[in-house]
Order: sequence, then structure tokens, then C-alpha cells
Amino acid sequence: MTAAFILSTNMSLVGIFAIAFAVVAAMNRDARGVRWIALGYAMGIVYLALEYLQTTQVDPTPVGVGIFLVFLLSQSFCMIGVARHYGVAPPWIAMAAIWSLTIFAVPVVFSLVYGSPLRSILYQAPYVAMQLLFAALVWRSHRRQPLDMLFLALQLVVALLYLAKPLIAAIVGAASSPQGYMDSAYAAISQSASVVLLVAIALVLLLVIMRDTAAEMVARSETDVLSGLLNRRGFDARAEDALARALRLGEPAVVVAADLDHFKAINDSFGHAAGDDVIAAFAGLLHDHMPPGAVVSRLGGEEFAVFLTGASLAEARGYAEAVRMAFATASLVHLGIARAVTASFGVAQAVADDSLLTLSRRADAALYRAKAGGRNRVGTTLSELAPTTAAPGLAMGWEARRDR
Ligand code: GH3
Ligand code: MG
Ligand code: MG
Repeated sequence: MTAAFILSTNMSLVGIFAIAFAVVAAMNRDARGVRWIALGYAMGIVYLALEYLQTTQVDPTPVGVGIFLVFLLSQSFCMIGVARHYGVAPPWIAMAAIWSLTIFAVPVVFSLVYGSPLRSILYQAPYVAMQLLFAALVWRSHRRQPLDMLFLALQLVVALLYLAKPLIAAIVGAASSPQGYMDSAYAAISQSASVVLLVAIALVLLLVIMRDTAAEMVARSETDVLSGLLNRRGFDARAEDALARALRLGEPAVVVAADLDHFKAINDSFGHAAGDDVIAAFAGLLHDHMPPGAVVSRLGGEEFAVFLTGASLAEARGYAEAVRMAFATASLVHLGIARAVTASFGVAQAVADDSLLTLSRRADAALYRAKAGGRNRVGTTLSELAPTTAAPGLAMGWEARRDR
């Protein structure tokens, strides 16, 4: 009776989690894997229903085989879902091996005496193997945040539980027949241990999915679709942090502003779509030439900003020059643009008490000077044409660091 009660509790919980995963899957069309996990939990309901059904059977074997395999199916669906979510290939070969061995083992398992240690061990073996596969999969994904590690640890605990089940059965005494399973002390222990772990695993998995969905949404809201660079929101968030850190540590920091030259004419001559391609091509050059740790963004339209830390003004100018030269000499024929397109740049270095706004304004002023001076050049504000005041040693630039 106790086990039957726990079993019905399990069933409600599995149902709730199946619905929860299905809702998450429906809310996020891109959620890779959650649908499989929902299906896995739905299979869990079938498994528990079969456990009930078995108590009423005259010949327990057919339903028993169903129980044995449906639970493995539930684990398999969850495996595919967890693998998809973690961005690794589902362990198809290992799963196929477990399934083959399990199918072959069915006649053996069900010919052994119910409750015998060998039967219990053979019965639990595929589940233990699956649990270890779950843990290996999370490990392979190289996601090592606390929630991932907790998820992995719980999988190992469940593997241990399955491994210990034959021992528990031997100690507390299993039922002598499948129909008597519900009334056995073994069933009470086995089902109540399962319920605690089931809730823990499902909650941690939901949290993992929520965490990753939220992170993905933030990343999306900070990314410019056309160029793949950060947008203004992403730039502001990262550059503000990086500037505060640089000023605190006394490291140099520079903003490079860029704007494509006579871009309206490009649109007018070659069309807006070709213009978009040019914007993406320029973004690619900004990105390809960037020093490590640079924050590269398309602020909007054909305007860009790059935040560099650890780079002196001279090195930032070198970066801007490299991009300017590469862009001015790039052939855009494949984009349907039969002439050179150029860009102008403005560079400004942070001074004490700068905010991102004041620093960006100086970079913009420098950009304006570059435009006024004839375009296709890198401008610097007048106040910064004097030798830089950065302390010796602090001007250790990205070019030097990149060589290390
Ligand atoms: P300047 O050298 O002075 O910068 O001249 P400009 O023509 O580039 O002038 P401005 O920067 O004021 O104009 C930007 C033009 O860029 C206006 C608009 O037609 C075009 N533009 C803005 N956003 C986009 C975009 O997302 N795609 C395309 N294709 N064009 C854009
Ligand atoms: Mg322009
Ligand atoms: Mg502009």
C-alpha cells in the first residue's frame, strides 16, 4: 500500500514535470532538446501506469517486459534531449549497444527467479549504464558551472541507487512475485528514493534549461543580426565594465569609432541589399583584425565602435589603420559593388574620470576630424596628439601580447 501511494505520487510528479518541459519547449521554439525531455517524462508516466497494471496480471511477464523496456525508452528520450540541450551528439552507439544487450537479456532476465540477486543485477544493469552515459555526456559538453556539476552528480547518485538496488532487495527482502512488488518493503524504499532523486533531477534540469534560455535571450538582445557583432546595448554593457576596470587598474583603454564614407551614395548606386552586404563585410574586417579581448560593435546604420583595453593610443591607431587599409583595398565585386568603399575612424584614449559617454564623444570628435580632413583616414582629437600620459609599462599593447 505504501509503495502504491509513493508510486501514485511519482506519477503525478512525472506528469507535472512532463507538462513543465512541454511548456518550456512550446515557449521557446529554439530550445533544442526540451521536447525530447518532455517525451521522456511522458514515457515515465507510461512506465508507472504499467507498474500499476502489473499488480492485476495473471501472467506478469508481458507487462513486466513492457516495464523493463519503457523505462529504458524514457531514459533514452531524456538522453537525446539532454545531449541536444548541451550541444553534444547523442551517444547513439553506446545507446544502441545498451538496447541490443537489453533486448538479448530479456529472455534471460525473465526466466530467472523473481527477486533473485542475478535477476536484479541484470535488470538494473542497463539503467546504471544509461545513468553513467548521462554523466559522461554532461562532462563531454565542457559545461562546468555549479548547476551542470550538480546535474552530473545527481546522475551518478542515481546510478549508485540502481547499482545498490539488488543489495537493498537482498537486505530488506524483495517480493516473491511481480504482483506482490507493491506491498514489499523493497518497493517502498526503491520508490521513495526514486521520488526524491526524480524531483531533484527534474528541478535541476529545468533550472539548467531556464538558465541557458535566459542567457541566450540576453545574448540575442545584445547581438546585431546583420553583422553578428554586438549592438549598442551589448557594447555599452561590456565597454562600461571594461572601462571601469581599466581605470581602476591604471591600464590604458581606447575607443575606436568608425563610419563608412559616402554610404548613402553606395545605397543609391547599388541598392540597399548590396549596402547591407558592405556593412557585413566591414564588420568582418573589424572583427578579424581585432586584438584579443576587444569589444566590437555595430552601433547602428553604418556606424561602429570598438573598445580596446591594454592598448595604447598608437596601437589602437595601428588597428584602425589596418582595418582602414584592408577595407579600402578590398574588392567588393562579388557583392555587386564595382568600386572601392572606404571608412573613416576616430580614436580616443581614456583619461581619469572618463565615462564611456565622454570617451565616446572624443572618439566621435576625432571621427569628425577624419571626415572633415577628407575621409578614408584615422583621426585623433587635438588634445590627444600630444605624447600619451600613460605610465611606462602600462602601454603593453595587444600586438605584443598576441605574440606571446
Ligand atoms: P559620410 O561619409 O559623411 O558618413 O556620408 P554618408 O553618406 O555615409 O552619411 P551618413 O553617415 O549620414 O549616412 C548614412 C547612410 O547609411 C544613410 C542610410 O542611407 C545608410 N544606412 C543606414 N543604415 C543602413 C543599413 O542598415 N543598411 C544600409 N544598406 N544602409 C544604411
Ligand atoms: Mg557614413
Ligand atoms: Mg553615419
